[in-house]
Amino acid sequence: LSVATNFDPPTDTSMNAPLALVTGGAGFLGSHLCERLLDLGHRVIAYDDLSTGHRSHVDHLAHRPGFRLVVHDITQPLPDDPALAEVGRVFNLACPASPSKYQLDPVQTTLTSVLGIWHLLQLAERTGARLLQTSTSEIYGNPQVHPQVESYPGHVDPVGPRACYDEGKRCAETLCDAFRRQGRADVRIARLFNSYGPRLRPGDGRVVSNFVVQALRGEPLTVYGDGSQTRSFCYVSDTIDGLLRLMESDCSGPVNIGNPDERTVGDLADTVIRMTGSGSPIVNRPLPADDPVRRRPDIGLARERLGWQPEVSLEQGLGETIGYFRRELGLDVPLRKLA
Ligand code: UDP
Repeated sequence: LSVATNFDPPTDTSMNAPLALVTGGAGFLGSHLCERLLDLGHRVIAYDDLSTGHRSHVDHLAHRPGFRLVVHDITQPLPDDPALAEVGRVFNLACPASPSKYQLDPVQTTLTSVLGIWHLLQLAERTGARLLQTSTSEIYGNPQVHPQVESYPGHVDPVGPRACYDEGKRCAETLCDAFRRQGRADVRIARLFNSYGPRLRPGDGRVVSNFVVQALRGEPLTVYGDGSQTRSFCYVSDTIDGLLRLMESDCSGPVNIGNPDERTVGDLADTVIRMTGSGSPIVNRPLPADDPVRRRPDIGLARERLGWQPEVSLEQGLGETIGYFRRELGLDVPLRKLA
């Protein structure tokens, strides 16, 4: 699946090609972004502390000219690397994003967003690089306004179990906006809604990877609560396209990047079972504390300012994702043909 982008594609892959810094570059979204930037003719430095990212996600990029992976934790000061002076675009994708992962070390999760963006904003201020922060629908918390529009300030418990992620991301937005207001950095803020696709890890813990892996292994699909809570799932190529468009737009945001096709978790489980042809049953497990009840982006702003909207349907995206996990797991469960 390839989606057209209006991101200016330089053809020069020599030392003069534009240089992008992608933090979280060995992660799920980060690795796809690195690949797309290289395809567009950019040089890329990827930072990753490999806490939830994996070298294997960028192994296939290692020998491409202009690509470099640096193991670095962005809560620490940036490495003393003269190449950073040449960076024209900074994409901050560094932060564990699965609730089961980001709650393991809430201090580190909070600092990854807050200290991480602080270090990157200082770089942007020093060099004039443009910085894009990947924020999240989680900043809306358990929303009382539906669908979520960017002007909705959110409903977040600052000391709840998800606060390390939600409030860390909220503070990162605040810092980006403060730098923008003071004319100290050129920033873009994207609020991402439940991205999914190839290179989610089998043990990631998020719902799409859990359900697909469970269905392929013939294990019960674990629906938390009664499955009536909703999410809106955005396929990875659409998310990446939205990020690139936002970066090259004149809109600082925040801008919602997500697919407004809202589904219940129960519906997602049924769809995965149907598409994999699995005989797995569904079992209900307790709903995690603070689990948002409904989530759907209003993408009017992205449509208007970026000319962006998702192109990949849930069924298409799940088809790609199921194919990926079948290969990854070495499992041979036949795909039932879609009607
Ligand atoms: N969920 C589920 N079963 C799972 C994993 C998640 O029912 O095995 C639910 C979870 O309770 C939430 C939704 O699926 O309502 C999305 O969860 P995820 O962790 O993917 O992302 P979130 O949007 O909550 O950050």
